[in-house]
Amino acid sequence: MTSAPRLRRLTSPKDLIEAGLAEPARLAELEAVADRYAIALTPALAALIDPGDPADPIARQFVPSPRELIRDPAERDDPIGDDAMSPVKGLVHRYPDRVLIKLAAVCAVYCRFCFRRERVGPGAGALSAAEFAAALDYVRERPGIWEVIFTGGDPLTLAPRRIAEATEALAAIAHVKVMRWHTRLPVAAPEQVTRAMARALKAEGKTTVVAVHANHPRELTENARAACRRLAAEGAMLVSQSVLLKGVNDDEDTLADLMRAFVEAGVKPYYLHHGDLAPGTAHWRTSIAKGQDLMRGLRARLSGLATPAYMLDIPGGRGKVPIGPQWIRGAGAGEHVVTDPRGVEHVYADRLGAGR
Ligand code: SF4
Repeated sequence: MTSAPRLRRLTSPKDLIEAGLAEPARLAELEAVADRYAIALTPALAALIDPGDPADPIARQFVPSPRELIRDPAERDDPIGDDAMSPVKGLVHRYPDRVLIKLAAVCAVYCRFCFRRERVGPGAGALSAAEFAAALDYVRERPGIWEVIFTGGDPLTLAPRRIAEATEALAAIAHVKVMRWHTRLPVAAPEQVTRAMARALKAEGKTTVVAVHANHPRELTENARAACRRLAAEGAMLVSQSVLLKGVNDDEDTLADLMRAFVEAGVKPYYLHHGDLAPGTAHWRTSIAKGQDLMRGLRARLSGLATPAYMLDIPGGRGKVPIGPQWIRGAGAGEHVVTDPRGVEHVYADRLGAGR
């Protein structure tokens, strides 16, 4: 059996400078950020960067900025309130029918806007066997848990053997019907998404979902698309996750191309996240009004198949809600005003028959 080639990543300011992705004069400011937040960029994503473009949307996502050390008063170490909803280490139980299990706290790449940036990094490690066993007990004792979401960090950074152990352990719990894996690996290191890994995610009689994180259409390379196809070939349902990022994808053309690229790779556009209030990420966020305008524009250009939901994770662990534009408003007397995808309003009469 052949194993996947080893990742050779850029993991320090010096690496980024030697690769021509940052000016040598920036060494001190990059090191100041690196002291606080991890750096990693894989060869697959580094190869997409145009070093001559100071606004390159791939470089922007992975090369640190000194603005990361500026904290807005509204920002929080734990922006989506994982800690408050964590009854056992590594498990978050926010909604009645599903839990998150943070299997690994490391990632193949470290995104500069990461919502768990205070929790992920090379020193953070994976759940120990005893901690995973405690998380399993928690799930086993609660028949209402229908779905388990493996996240991190990036759980697909684990070896296929470890992934298979987690899959098999959860598959043995009858009331768990769905296992979902959140990952950036298909774009960050597509060669690591082997058939063995794809098989390790699958359990007989259960539904496997892989949520693929990408933010710019250039990330969906031929290799990334092939990685997605390997996952689908072993039976995984693929959905997308993206973050609305200023200077990366906050324009209609880029978002439309990104969503079409997902569909072409066999990935259903699922969530476009509004940027969370993670420390030092204010320079990434657009306003919600701008996000809604972009979604309005996408609706006019894309089919429902290619349209994601625009989502906000309410700070403090209160849950995720769609915050897209409104298409309908009440007009009284059983009538509504509905806006069509071109922005033209129409009256809709909400007529009901008598009886049941
Ligand atoms: S891959 Fe996900 S968890 Fe890892 S740094 Fe990027 S956003 Fe954070």
